[in-house]
Order: sequence, then C-alpha cells, then structure tokens
Amino acid sequence: MSPRLIALFAVLVTLAAGLGLARAATATATTVPESHLAQLDPDTVDWKAKTADYWASVLSPEQVRVCRDAGTERPFTGAHLHTQDKGVFVCSSCGLPLFDKKTKFDSGTGWPSFYDALPDAISEHTDTAYGMVRTELRCARCDAHLGHVFNDGPPPTGKRYCINSVCLLHAPKGGK
Ligand SMILES: [Zn+2]
Repeated sequence: MSPRLIALFAVLVTLAAGLGLARAATATATTVPESHLAQLDPDTVDWKAKTADYWASVLSPEQVRVCRDAGTERPFTGAHLHTQDKGVFVCSSCGLPLFDKKTKFDSGTGWPSFYDALPDAISEHTDTAYGMVRTELRCARCDAHLGHVFNDGPPPTGKRYCINSVCLLHAPKGGK
C-alpha cells in the first residue's frame, strides 16, 4: 500500500469513528440517569413553558419528532417493547411517572402497552388525524405526546395504552 493510500485510509477510519461518536451522542436515553433529567429536580421546573429550542437541546431527534411533534415510532423498534424490569416508566421529557411496570403487557402491536396509567399522569385529547377518531394521550405535566388509548385491552380495565418507547424512561419505583 502506498503512503498516499495509507493516509487516505487513516482519514476514512477517523471519519468513520467520528460518525460513530456523533451517533452515540444523539442516541436516545432509556433510563433517567442517561437523560437530561439526571441533572435537575424535575418537580421544580415549569415544563409547559419550555420552548422547541430547549427540547431540541435535551432530547434526541427521534424524541423530538415523536414526543414533541406527535409522531409515531416504527413498530417493533422501541427500546422498551420488551423491558420487564420492575419500577415505573416516566415521561422522557419531564420525568413525571406515567405507568407502573405491573400494568405492562404484550399486545403484539409492536409498541409498549399498558392496561392502566398512574393517577393524574395523563391527559386525553380527541385526535382526528388520518381519517380516524382516536384518543391521544399526553403527559399531564409537559404535554408530551405519548401515544393513544384503545378499548381492546385486557382486564381489569379493558384499556390498551399504546405508547411510543422514546416517550418513556425506565426508573426504579419513586421515579428517579
Ligand atoms: Zn412530561
């Protein structure tokens, strides 16, 4: 290999490593300690006053697309689809506890599913997008879009809270 080829190879390796680091830096957090919430007391923040610029600075691009702009993650891709650890799932934007792991079930839909939400954690809104009438779920504290709720869930509630993984962080009980 000529010196010029070796130099070119070194540049390519450096570029590839740089891209890998960039991807790691924007990877989506799945637990509270990995997230922006580890640096603050989420109970003392006025979350509804936060701007789009703030969310873009603390969330991953996929979290912004889904949680702040009411998108949907592709089914069977979310980090929490198969999470079985005990504890609670909190809002990935503001840290409010939303669901207890005890209410998680496998719905077969490709999104994390729960048959109940924690009290006063979620607000419901009528969503008429895509020619359907659905009930959209948002975090009661920061208005993050979470997913939708349907009436085809298991007992005891008969409800299926269909939630995007990127809108959730896992935490031991207590929310931290
Ligand atoms: Zn929230």
